Amino acid sequence: MIEPTRMSAVELINQMSAGHLSAEEVTRAYIDRIDRLDRSVKSFLLFDPESALTVARSIDQKRRNGEHLGPLAGVPIALKDNLCTPGLPTTCGSRMLQNFRPPYEATVIRKLREADAVFIGKTNMDEFAMGSSTENSAYGATCNPWDLERIPGGSSGGSAASVAADFAPLSIGSDTGGSIRQPAALCGIVGLKPTYGRVSRYGLIAFASSLDQIGPFAHDLADTSLLLQVISGHDPHDATSVDSPVPDYLATLEKPPERLRIGLVREFFSEGLDPEIEAAVREAVRLYVGAGATVKDVSLPHSKYGTAAYYIVAPAECSSNLARYDGTIFGHRAADWSPRTPEEAEIPPLIRMMMASRAEGFGAEVKRRIMLGTFALSAGYADQYYNQALKVRRLIRNDFDAAFADVDVLIGPTTPTAAFKLGEKAADPLAMYLSDIYTITTNLAGIPGLSIPCGLTKSGLPIGLQLMAPAFAEENLLRTARVFERQTDWHTRRPSLA
Ligand code: GLN
Repeated sequence: MIEPTRMSAVELINQMSAGHLSAEEVTRAYIDRIDRLDRSVKSFLLFDPESALTVARSIDQKRRNGEHLGPLAGVPIALKDNLCTPGLPTTCGSRMLQNFRPPYEATVIRKLREADAVFIGKTNMDEFAMGSSTENSAYGATCNPWDLERIPGGSSGGSAASVAADFAPLSIGSDTGGSIRQPAALCGIVGLKPTYGRVSRYGLIAFASSLDQIGPFAHDLADTSLLLQVISGHDPHDATSVDSPVPDYLATLEKPPERLRIGLVREFFSEGLDPEIEAAVREAVRLYVGAGATVKDVSLPHSKYGTAAYYIVAPAECSSNLARYDGTIFGHRAADWSPRTPEEAEIPPLIRMMMASRAEGFGAEVKRRIMLGTFALSAGYADQYYNQALKVRRLIRNDFDAAFADVDVLIGPTTPTAAFKLGEKAADPLAMYLSDIYTITTNLAGIPGLSIPCGLTKSGLPIGLQLMAPAFAEENLLRTARVFERQTDWHTRRPSLA
């Protein structure tokens, strides 16, 4: 039998239900691997082997008793640290929430717990999910398992790295502008941002509420389908979650799509796209043509405004969402807020306390976003910036609607380059923002986007293929991606981490 840490979630489930492996053995195998190797990857902020083993043993017990078991029984899963886990630290990668232990449970966490998944730990992330490299974490950066000198992507870098390194077969991330798909691409795994409203955001610490969406990471599409299935569905606690039936994604995955009409997004082959990435994507197109697909060029003319619109809308919402962290009820409170200048002495002490707490609690990128967003929403500027960005957002959505009149799935690269070096873009926010140039428009339009492994660069770094579909067409999106996965072995490649 192969090592449990090399099995997919589906394989683990089969082995456990056949009695060949216990949940405890599986969990131990992952714990050992994390113990040996996470020192160099640093994907976890919280790693709790004892609780994981306790849950695993209780699942084994339930199995022995013949009790009902959930669809993920005994499968270890890593969780991004912006999901509220009651009683457990939930830091959001920020000093601001260093001591936050949520009094309630995120809906996704509840669903995973009820599915009998085993929580193996909470993963590192860019502070409040703002970033593309996981370097904005207040707790240090995570490294890419394929090359420890490179970034894993972000903001869900810890979740992506943990699956790429086989520290868990599954993990959960969140995607506001690319934070699942971009790190999935850079770490050589599958990452899916579902349709806005497909998965409840209740208990996800908000960054930009109209864009945020929780989604799965896995090595392959079967595991992705299974995890999506478990976390999807309507939730009365989230008014934006949609009450539409959740298909059995795993059951239909092997059915070839009824139609294979693919659109190649012209604007995603712009300057700045690494030729090796372009070549891998063109190769994927050839494969689809060979599989009988019709492929045509499609234009999304407003995508060039995507990054500009996103960097108004997302900071605007963030400035509002993060206003609550002021040291009174929520967030870090400074120990000292005594005035240091005569001007400060004029400020009421309560305000000084908030100022000192926010100054200490937030990192540079979060402060930059709060200031941008506050400015964009200020009287006199809102029409010029925020309202203008909303109009662009509508036009981007219209572009997608027009494209989907003729094709079922759009494809292109997930990222313009493979993983860059740690520190390479850390001092250049604009260069960092361009990492999400191909993923951001999907969030603005609310539609699902998927990244799957489609190659390796000459220097051995993973390349991601992005597929996008109309709202709530995840089933067809996964089936279309499966056509590629079935004929390639990129998803079976692993970094050597000895
Ligand atoms: N990198 C983008 C940003 O910094 C997207 C982040 C995300 O999807 N959470 O905002």
